[in-house]
Amino acid sequence: MSILVYTESENGKFKKAALEVVSYAKAVADQMGTSVTAVAVNADNAETLGNYGASKVLLVKDESLKAFNAKKYAAIVENAAKNEGSKVVVVSASADSKYLAPLLAVGLDAGYVSNVVAAPSNVSPFTVKHSAFTNKAFANTEITTDVKIVGLSNNSFGLVESGGSASVEDFSPSIPESGVTVESVDKATDKVSIADAEIVVSGGRGLKGPENWGMIEELAEVLGAATACSKPVSDLGWRPHGEHVGQTGKPVASNLYIAIGISGAIQHLAGINSSKVKVVINTDPEAPFFKAADYGVVGDAFEVVPKLIEKLKAFKAANA
Ligand SMILES: Cc1cc2nc3c(=O)[nH]c(=O)nc-3n(C[C@H](O)[C@H](O)[C@H](O)COP(=O)(O)OP(=O)(O)OC[C@H]3O[C@@H](n4cnc5c(N)ncnc54)[C@H](O)[C@@H]3O)c2cc1C
Repeated sequence: MSILVYTESENGKFKKAALEVVSYAKAVADQMGTSVTAVAVNADNAETLGNYGASKVLLVKDESLKAFNAKKYAAIVENAAKNEGSKVVVVSASADSKYLAPLLAVGLDAGYVSNVVAAPSNVSPFTVKHSAFTNKAFANTEITTDVKIVGLSNNSFGLVESGGSASVEDFSPSIPESGVTVESVDKATDKVSIADAEIVVSGGRGLKGPENWGMIEELAEVLGAATACSKPVSDLGWRPHGEHVGQTGKPVASNLYIAIGISGAIQHLAGINSSKVKVVINTDPEAPFFKAADYGVVGDAFEVVPKLIEKLKAFKAANA
């Protein structure tokens, strides 16, 4: 009857989103008077999930599952949910989880709500708040099926350490053949990915050319941030397509989004609505982005950004 969470890892290490879904599941479990069981695949230190509220971890160790495979992973989570008699399954909002959740919903005959941003307002009936219309609105939705799947938006709940401990059990469900084999995965960059980043520094066409991206990278480095860009910037080949944010790019749910030389076209804003604090640097006081900004600097990026880097470095040195 425990709440089940699927916890994602990469090269044996849990992603931040995995710790967040466990923290969230613990809050749901407390509301429902039950416990949290996590499913992990090829993760090291599975017991660390205890600190975020899991009391049991079902650990699958299998070299053939090194790369994510939706069909196989869905079978693992489905098996675990059935074994545990779980009525609520929590996954993250990563691309992998968004692929896995619908397969899981079919397998468990469950209702699935994605982009959930808060703990249920009520567990009977089970009602969750989720973002809609590219984060321009929120809906409170009741899941009426016996088994419910919740897809949690990244950075919407945060990490909650409970100091608890988890038992780790080997788990070996039967896994179907999938018809698809991932031979290898080559990452374009080993930097923090936009989806996982707490801070994102993003540049637009206002930066004039790829040769000026040094200051964007330097600012990102000082802040421990990921770098991103607008669509024309990646279309022009100034930056990789994996960094393009927006309606046709990636969504960003960071705590801080710094937009430099980006106009704030509606298609760009569609990707950053769920970021918490938005800072805009633009020479044009009429740039639409200022309407969406929490803080705005009307100024030339080539003057403002180097000064910002200098001040941040001085602040870090003084507070080291
Ligand atoms: C179907 C469709 C889907 C799209 N999807 C996306 C998407 O997913 N993501 C996306 O980003 N766009 C998307 N677009 C494109 C979008 O409409 C805009 O064209 C794009 O976001 C504009 O990029 P930009 O702000 O970098 O460039 P521009 O519109 O050229 O704006 C540059 C900005 O930089 C400012 N600037 C200039 N010089 C400086 C300086 N020295 N210092 C500071 N500021 C300066 C200017 O005032 C201006 O506001 C899409 C368009 C369509 C039609």
